[in-house]
Amino acid sequence: MNRETTEDFYCDFALSGKAEIDRVLETDTVLAFHHTRPFWETHIVVVPKRHIDSLLTIIPDDEKLLVELIEAVNTVAGKVVAERGAARVITNLGRYQDSKHLHFHVCSGEKIRPDDR
Ligand SMILES: [Zn+2]
Repeated sequence: MNRETTEDFYCDFALSGKAEIDRVLETDTVLAFHHTRPFWETHIVVVPKRHIDSLLTIIPDDEKLLVELIEAVNTVAGKVVAERGAARVITNLGRYQDSKHLHFHVCSGEKIRPDDR
């Protein structure tokens, strides 16, 4: 993948500190924060701090990081379900994936903004 032509909000803005984010959970390897342009009433994204392109590009060496990532998704989604009674966990691929850095959306409630596509 050509990183120079790929938009990566997470490495370029969220993890670099260029964008102001509202943190929900942070460990040495994983970050969760409220989406900066939410699509749903509750919309949190969970990302690994180390760059992985997508769910389709994970390799066996990523195993420990992926376990920590899923633990974070579990914690965040559990809180959302406790607060709102339901949640969705989504990861997009291919042309559905705007930011080419693996991320999980944890969302709940009404959709407040249409998809761009
Ligand atoms: Zn990245």
